[in-house]
Order: sequence, then C-alpha cells, then structure tokens
Amino acid sequence: MKSSDVAMNITCVATKSTDVAIVGGGPAGLMLAIELGCRGVNCVVLEEDVAEPDFPKANATSSRTMEHYRRRGFANEIRQLGLVADYPQDIVYCTTLVGRELTRFAIPSRSQALSQSAFGDYGEEHWPTPELPHRCQQMLIEPVLRRRAQQYPSVNLMLGAQAQSITMDTQQVTLAARSSTTGDTFDLTARYVVGCDGPRSLVRKTCGIRYSGLSEESRDFFGGLMLSVYFTSSSMYSALGKSPAWMYWAVNAVQRGLLIAIDGVDKFLFCLQLKPGQTPETVDFKAAMFAAVGCAFEFDLIAVAPWNAGFTLVADQFSQGRAFIAGDAAHLFTPTAGMGYNTSVDDAVNLGWKLAAVMKGWAPDTLLHSYEAERKPIAHRNTAFARAMADSIGIINVPANVDAPGADADAVRQQLGQALSKHVRNEFNIPGLQLGLRYEGSPIVASEETPPPADLPNEYLPDARPGARAPHIWLDGKSIFDLFGRDFTLLCFDDAGAAGHATRRASGLEANAFESADVNAWKEAAAGLGIPLDVLHCDCAQARALYGAERVLIRPDHHVAWRGDAGADAGALLALACGRAISSSLAQQHEPAFAKAK
Ligand SMILES: Cc1cc2nc3c(=O)[nH]c(=O)nc-3n(C[C@H](O)[C@H](O)[C@H](O)COP(=O)(O)OP(=O)(O)OC[C@H]3O[C@@H](n4cnc5c(N)ncnc54)[C@H](O)[C@@H]3O)c2cc1C
Repeated sequence: MKSSDVAMNITCVATKSTDVAIVGGGPAGLMLAIELGCRGVNCVVLEEDVAEPDFPKANATSSRTMEHYRRRGFANEIRQLGLVADYPQDIVYCTTLVGRELTRFAIPSRSQALSQSAFGDYGEEHWPTPELPHRCQQMLIEPVLRRRAQQYPSVNLMLGAQAQSITMDTQQVTLAARSSTTGDTFDLTARYVVGCDGPRSLVRKTCGIRYSGLSEESRDFFGGLMLSVYFTSSSMYSALGKSPAWMYWAVNAVQRGLLIAIDGVDKFLFCLQLKPGQTPETVDFKAAMFAAVGCAFEFDLIAVAPWNAGFTLVADQFSQGRAFIAGDAAHLFTPTAGMGYNTSVDDAVNLGWKLAAVMKGWAPDTLLHSYEAERKPIAHRNTAFARAMADSIGIINVPANVDAPGADADAVRQQLGQALSKHVRNEFNIPGLQLGLRYEGSPIVASEETPPPADLPNEYLPDARPGARAPHIWLDGKSIFDLFGRDFTLLCFDDAGAAGHATRRASGLEANAFESADVNAWKEAAAGLGIPLDVLHCDCAQARALYGAERVLIRPDHHVAWRGDAGADAGALLALACGRAISSSLAQQHEPAFAKAK
C-alpha cells in the first residue's frame, strides 16, 4: 500500500469502531490479527510505520513459530525466505573470523530442512516436529505477515496510524490516533485493546503496568550498548576463507563480534558491543569490524543501529480489564537463543483464539484471564533461558593468547573450543525450549495427578499431558497437526491398533449414526455450548501410545486441554477449556484499575 492511500484511509475516518484494537503491527500484532482474521473477528491494527522494516532484528524462527505459520498455511512461504536454499545454517566460532575455527555446529540448509528431520547432529527423535527451526530475518517475515493479515476481510491494517492515548471503562476502550503521514486525528472505539507495541508500549504504560527483572546486566559481550552494522560486501566470503555459516562469532581477547549472513550472497549484519566511553556516534565501528574479522575488506554500509543487550524483563501483569499486552510489550529478552520474537508470536496465538472465542460468543470473558496465567510463566521461563545463555557466551573466559602461534596456544584453543562446543549445543539445540512448553496449572486445562516431567531446554520428551503442546506424528505423510480443526478437535482412538494410519475428520456438530454414543455426546455438548469442535478419528497405534489416552481434547493453539477415556463428562470438560469455570468477569475484577488508568 502506498502512504498516500493510507493517509486517504485515515482522513475519511473520524470515529471508527471495531471489536479488537491492536496497537503495533510487528510480529505480535500481525500474528494476532491473523488469528482473529481467520475466525472472522473484526480488528484494526494501528501501526505507526508505513514502510516495511528494512533493518535486521530477529534472525531465528523457532520450530514452534514455524508450526504456527504452518497452522495458518504459510510456513512454506516463510521457508522460502532468507539464506539461499542450499546455504548451510551453521554456527562457527573463530579466533578472528578469517582465523582459526574453534568449533562449528552444523545446521541443515532450508532445502534440507524441507526434506529431513535431523537438526545438526540431532536426529528426528530429538526434534519431532514437521517444522525445523528456520533462519530468516524478521524484516523479511513481517511483509508476509502484513500480507497474510490483510487477506482477511475482517482485518483493517492501518499503516501510518499512531495510537496516542487510550481511555477505558467497563464497556469499551477508546483510542485517540493520529496519521503519521498527514497529521489527521481520529478516534477508535473497541471492545478490547491489545498492546503489541514493543518495549515502550503505550498500552502497558497507560495501564500502569511495570516490567520486573533485570536491566542492562553487563557482560563482555551481549551485556551493554550494542551496535548493529548492516552492509553489503561481495568480497566477504573470499576474505573469510572457510565453509559458509549463518553465524560467525569472533572470540578473542581484543575484539569480540558477531557476523550474521543475511542472504548468503552479499548482505551481512555485524554486531559489536561498545566499550566504556564509546558511543554509537563516536565509535570507529569499521576498525572494530576489521579487528573482529581479522582483515580489512571492501563493504558498502547500508545502516547502523544501536540497541541494548542485558534485559531479562517480564511485565507484572499481562492484562488489565479490557487491555492486554503481548510480545516485547510484555517481556524483553537478550537475543541469545533467539526467543524474543518467537515468544511474541506464541503470545499472539494464545490470546488470538481466546479473544475470538469471546467475540464470537462461545466463551465468556473469563476465558481471557487464562492468557496471563498461561503466558506469564512462559515469559519467565524463556527470558531466564536467554539470560543463562547470555552469561554462558558473554562471560566465557577468553585467554589473551587464544590467537597466538604454538603448542600452548593450541591447547588453549582446544579447551576454549570444547567450552564453545558445549555452549553452542546448549544455546541452539533447544527442542525442549521450543516444543516442550506446557501450561501447567492453567485454569483452563484439566489436571493430572502424575507429577509433570522435567522441563529441559535441550531435550524434548513428547508428552500429551494437559497443558502440553500436542505432540506431532506423521500419519500417511501428513503431520497430525494438519488434520486438526481450526478450533477445538476431539482426537479419538477407538480402533487404534489397526494396521493402517487411516484418519477421518468430521466437522459439524450433528450427532449421527456413524459415531459412537460417546462421540455423539461430545458433539451434542459442543453444540449446546456453541463451541466449534471437529472430531478426528485415528487408528494408528503409535499415535495412540503417544497421546496416552482414548480421547484427547486439542485446543485451537494445538495444546492439550484434556485427555482421558470415553465416557467422560464432555460438557464439563468443554466448559473448563472455554473458561466457564473461571469465576470473576474481567469487568468485575478490574473496574477500580480502569478509573486509575484514565
Ligand atoms: C538486534 C536484535 C536482534 C534480535 N534477534 C532476535 C532473534 O534472533 N530471535 C528472536 O526471537 N528475537 C530477536 N530479537 C527480538 C525481536 O526483534 C522482538 O522480540 C520482536 O520484534 C518483538 O515483536 P513485537 O511485535 O512484540 O514488537 P515490535 O517488533 O517492536 O513491534 C512493535 C510495533 O509497534 C509499533 N508501535 C509502537 N508504538 C505504537 C503506537 N503508539 N502506535 C502505533 N504503532 C506503534 C512499532 O512501530 C512496531 O512496528 C532481536 C531484537 C534485536 C533488537
């Protein structure tokens, strides 16, 4: 869309109303719009920037985020972006980047990721997912998210619209907004507002919600003021003189630095940490870059941007009354382990189906309380892991003679290489962190008496206990995820044990003669509550063993709500999964806070 179209759009609108106002059209806001749009819920996304982002930020899309993109039908489109198809996504640590390799962690190229399930040295059993992680710049992903959001008629993506103030009462939210291109102002009223508006979130501040945790922790690397240098260089690869990699880390006592391949052709991002006394304006970043690389090279600068590393922050509340926050507005990471954007997308997916359920009338607003109950613990879990990894690489002991000739230095390099090899596996081989997230203790998942298994970042143990991400299994060449419905799915293993993997998916809630009395009872209960439910019959014994029960209720975000035997109280379980068992409504719970926020 051209900026003139946007300005026209805004000029025509004096007061507008919608169901959900989303402030911020970054990954969180756009994914939320997609989750609402695919369910026909009206929403307006206010995004102050008109232009698509053109500077690198997040580099890593997790398996879980790719699974979410797959659920919405565009994982393959995202998989086409980024490094050239056969470019390895390796991570290599060197003394200087043209110097000695200390260790290398091999990661498949994106074309390999489409055809194999091994991740580095780790086979399919370690990463049981239809979508391995993907390396691609956030600035390339956001345009796809914009286009995908705009394809839904109920989504109005207003580019160039800045939210300036917000007032709330028990019935609605009113936003005052301004066109960043024409200066025109307009009001927007909505049932709910979601602040996906990044670290300086207007929505969070308006609600008086604070971040808690650690700010600007200092480290030798990834702990202080950082500078990203974005450039092109056609001679970089020949200067590096080693097998290509996605990330190149310079680990030495003089100048540390991180070089990231953006397209595998000639675009790169270099990150350095400023030393005491240096500022983004005065630092000689060219000298620092040459020192970390180990030689001078020709390059054309595109842009530089400062940013801060060393945050481990989580908002004290994720909602207040009719206002919610998601993404960086709710948590701030140090980029180690690459979980900031991924946690943001996961927030949006969690909140999206819940807001849609409330707006479509098949869940009470009490369902929305489960958003904070489920996502705040995940924010603490993920930020804590990122912090541990920042310490692991940021304060690693780098001896002064690491790049010296001779046997003593060889021994030093070997020792450092071993430490880095352990570190890289800890930071990047994280199937448990990406796939093992569970909403343990959530008010909308059933509880099981057995103690929860350990939550291990580097190991994923497939588990279908309530709250867990539903485990993936291939059935006749399709992921079981591809067979789940858009909203709730009842997974039935009546005939499991048969030789084939045949599956049958039945939409529609009419009871019928082909279904067992139990399945008909689920359909009738869902129809009675107005809850969209698909039924998936599966006769695969392996899937039955994986899911550990005859019946499994899968949520719209592909987490398990409940599992058990035929004959359970379907009505009670569906009511639980839709928040009907949570007692106080949003308006009752937060009324006094609205008055303060005004
Ligand atoms: C250098 C760097 C490297 C990173 N690497 C990784 C990585 O490898 N992996 C990873 O997962 N994460 C990484 N991150 C973090 C990641 O970029 C963020 O976590 C992610 O962008 C958060 O998405 P978001 O949608 O919550 O917020 P944002 O992307 O910040 O989007 C917020 C949007 O809101 C808009 N906005 C703000 N206020 C208003 C307003 N009042 N009205 C209208 N619009 C408004 C902004 O213009 C912006 O578009 C990195 C970040 C940096 C800086």
